[in-house]
Amino acid sequence: MGFTGQCRCGQVQLHLQVQTLAPLYACHCLNCQRWSGSAFALHMLCPAQAIEVSGNTQTYTLAAEGHTSTQYACGTCFTRLFNETDAAPGMRVVRAGILHGADRLAPLAHIWVKRKQPWISLPEGVAQWPQSPTPEEFAAVISEQA
Ligand SMILES: [Zn+2]
Ligand SMILES: [Zn+2]
Repeated sequence: MGFTGQCRCGQVQLHLQVQTLAPLYACHCLNCQRWSGSAFALHMLCPAQAIEVSGNTQTYTLAAEGHTSTQYACGTCFTRLFNETDAAPGMRVVRAGILHGADRLAPLAHIWVKRKQPWISLPEGVAQWPQSPTPEEFAAVISEQA
């Protein structure tokens, strides 16, 4: 299954090739609201080697809660593209709004819904957690989808 994506200016192109549909989830935490300048962030969790990036990127690395996270952005227009964290080695979390056709996919989970903006109604039956789920809880939802 393949996806392509790009930043706002088109300088960076992204190709994503995954064996099974990579899990898409929305994070409503305050940091994601600030990072995105929006109500929530849409993330796709992918194996790092499934992602091919062309173009110049700039990175921003931060340490928080005992983990180091590196954010990749277009070096020209600064669209956020994906990040890596040592909390999930070998994975990259793609900002799914940059993908072509992301509108065909619905998030399988919503996290940090205690920070969700009150005007957003979530569909019934979709997994949600007040904060972050444990890796086991999240994996259980992913395996239901597969
Ligand atoms: Zn750009
Ligand atoms: Zn978040």
